[in-house]
Amino acid sequence: QAADDYQQMEHAAKFFAHQLRRHANAPKVIDYLKGRGLSGEVVKAFQIGYAPDGWDDLLKTLGKGQGSRDQLVDLKLVNRNDNGRYYDFFRDRVMFPIRDRRGRVVGFGGRILEGDGPKYLNSPETRVFHKGRELYGFYEVKQAHRQIEQIVIVEGYMDVVALAQAGIDFAVASLGTATTTDQLQMLFRATRKVVCCYDGDRAGRDAAWRALENALPLLTDGLELSFLFLPDGEDPDSLVRQEGAEAFTARLAQAQSFTSYFFSHLSEQLDLASDSGRAALLNQAKPLIERIASDYYREALLAELARLLRREVSQVAAQVRQAKATT
Ligand code: ATP
Ligand code: MN
Ligand code: MN
Ligand code: MN
Repeated sequence: QAADDYQQMEHAAKFFAHQLRRHANAPKVIDYLKGRGLSGEVVKAFQIGYAPDGWDDLLKTLGKGQGSRDQLVDLKLVNRNDNGRYYDFFRDRVMFPIRDRRGRVVGFGGRILEGDGPKYLNSPETRVFHKGRELYGFYEVKQAHRQIEQIVIVEGYMDVVALAQAGIDFAVASLGTATTTDQLQMLFRATRKVVCCYDGDRAGRDAAWRALENALPLLTDGLELSFLFLPDGEDPDSLVRQEGAEAFTARLAQAQSFTSYFFSHLSEQLDLASDSGRAALLNQAKPLIERIASDYYREALLAELARLLRREVSQVAAQVRQAKATT
C-alpha cells in the first residue's frame, strides 16, 4: 500500500507538470511564473505544475476504478462532498510538489493565480505526509551539493524557488509557520550551519524566536544557528529579486549569531540599566539556558548574561544551576 501511495503521488506530480505544457490555461500560468522571474529550467527542476480549473481532471486521469479513487481521497488529492460527489482538491492553482528526504513526493502546495480564496492550499496530513517532519526543497538541496556548507530556512515555496533561480540553491521552507525540532534536527544532520531567514513582518519575527527555542536542545558544539532579519515587508523572494544574489549572500554572511539574537530579543522590552530590568533578564534567560545541551553554547550565553547583568560569570552560573536543581 505505502509504495503504491508514493507512486500515485508521483503520478499526480507528473500530471500537474504535464498540464503546464498541455492545458489550455498553460500560457496564462507560464506568464504568471515568468512574471515572478522564474525560468523554465527552475520550473522543471522543482517540477512545478498546474492543477486545472475543472472539477475532476486529476480524478478522471488517475482515479479510474474505485480502488484508485479511494486512494486519491486518502491522499487528499480528491474530496468527497455531502452529496457523494468526488472532486479535485487542488483546482486552478500553481502546484509545488513536496518531496521527502528520499525524493518521494509526499504532498503539494498550491498557489492561487488570482482572485478570491486562500493564497496557498497545502496537502493536509496523510499516511505519507507529516507536515512538521518535511522540508520543502531539502531533497533538491541535497541533490545539488555533495557537501552542504549551509542551509537557509525560509517561509515559503516561492522563497526557495526564487533563491534557487538566483543561484542560491541551499534554501528550504518549513511548510507553515514554526520550524519544528524535527526539521532542525534533519537540517543539522546534513550541515553544520543553518540560517533562519523568515519574512520581515511580525509573523516572521515570531517564527524566528520559536525556531531558536526549538533549537535549544539540539544545538551541540560546532553547530551554528544564525538569524537574518529582512527589511519590513520583504521576504527572501522579493529581496533577492530586488537586490540580486550578491547582496543577498552578503546579508547571509552577516546574519545575527545565536547568542546575539538570544539577548537582543530578551532585552528588547527591558531596561538593563535598572535592577528590575536585569532581574527580569536573569529570570527569562535561566530556563532557556537550562535547555541547552552544548557546553560551548551554555558557557557563551552565561558569559554574555554575566556581562549584561554586570556580575561575575561564576555567580550567574551558580544561579542558573540552582534554577535547574529546583525544577
Ligand atoms: P507569494 O510570494 O507567492 O505571495 P509567500 O510565500 O510570500 O507567497 P506568505 O504569505 O509569506 O506567502 O506565506 C509563506 C508560506 O506560508 C507560504 O509559502 C505557504 O507555505 C504558507 N501559507 C501562506 N498563506 C497560506 C494559507 N492561506 N494557507 C496555508 N498556508 C499558507
Ligand atoms: Mn509572511
Ligand atoms: Mn512571504
Ligand atoms: Mn512572497
